[in-house]
Amino acid sequence: MVSDTVRSSPRFMHLPTFMRAPLIEDRSEFDIAMVGVPYDGAVTNRPGARHGPREVRSASSMIRAIHPVTRLNPFELCQIGDAGDVPFENLYDIAAVHAEIEAFFRAVGDDGLTSLAIGGDHSVTLPILRALATEGPLGFIQVDAHTDTWDSFMGSELSHGAPFRRAVEEGLIDANRTVQIGIRGAQNSMEGWDFSEATGMRVLFMDEFTQIGAEAAAQEARDIVGDGPTYLSFDIDGLDPAFAPGTGTPEVGGLSTVEALTLLRELRGVQFLGADVVEVSPPFDPAGITALAGATMAYELLCLLSDQSSKKGA
Ligand code: MN
Ligand code: MN
Repeated sequence: MVSDTVRSSPRFMHLPTFMRAPLIEDRSEFDIAMVGVPYDGAVTNRPGARHGPREVRSASSMIRAIHPVTRLNPFELCQIGDAGDVPFENLYDIAAVHAEIEAFFRAVGDDGLTSLAIGGDHSVTLPILRALATEGPLGFIQVDAHTDTWDSFMGSELSHGAPFRRAVEEGLIDANRTVQIGIRGAQNSMEGWDFSEATGMRVLFMDEFTQIGAEAAAQEARDIVGDGPTYLSFDIDGLDPAFAPGTGTPEVGGLSTVEALTLLRELRGVQFLGADVVEVSPPFDPAGITALAGATMAYELLCLLSDQSSKKGA
């Protein structure tokens, strides 16, 4: 049994792990690993997401255990720990960094743990999907201002604007079981939007999301991903910059934190096998509100994952 003395201490105390969970030393004692992925070498504009995991760890000390709506306590459902950060030996070669991320998440999965990743720029989701989609393409729910299905940028096909185009090409996600929620902002070309729609993804632009509301959006997402294994990726820029200014490519007119919480809560029961929160950029987050929003979304994802993971062994 893992000791949980930190979580029972006042919240201002001790070294900041995610949600004040114990550091994972022996993976066999845990069900869910929260993993920091401090990498932002694939951004197309403003950097800083490499500092995301550290600030989300700090902000997540605010998060307590029992969910205010479901009354579930993920820390009672599962053994949840902080696996630390992906230990990089490369930083200046995106493909090499991605290989290290993939290897780390594959090792965690091989030991039977479900992962909740905290980025990092959105390129890090691609190697995580490579590690997880071992038995065929996954269902995919993405909250984001951007589809991230552009092809190449400045000579690279691995930028944070491209991961889900690559994921479709590599058979990691099933475009027909993919929904992208919160898409907005003017573009210089429609190439990314066109790719998403041409491959069969449901692109829920923000104007339509605003009309139908978070509950209906969640219901549609549930219908699209069905009851197969599904991954959820939450780009913090899906939120309006009023709620999440600290990110590299903000777009006004996004989800409120209330809408995002409602959306995630309505996804309970989907067969999630992993999730992430990415693109928190602390240098653009002087008041720390983006880190807190990221930590709170991560808690909601932890509740979804622990609900699933606790049924796995039952
Ligand atoms: Mn993104
Ligand atoms: Mn984005």
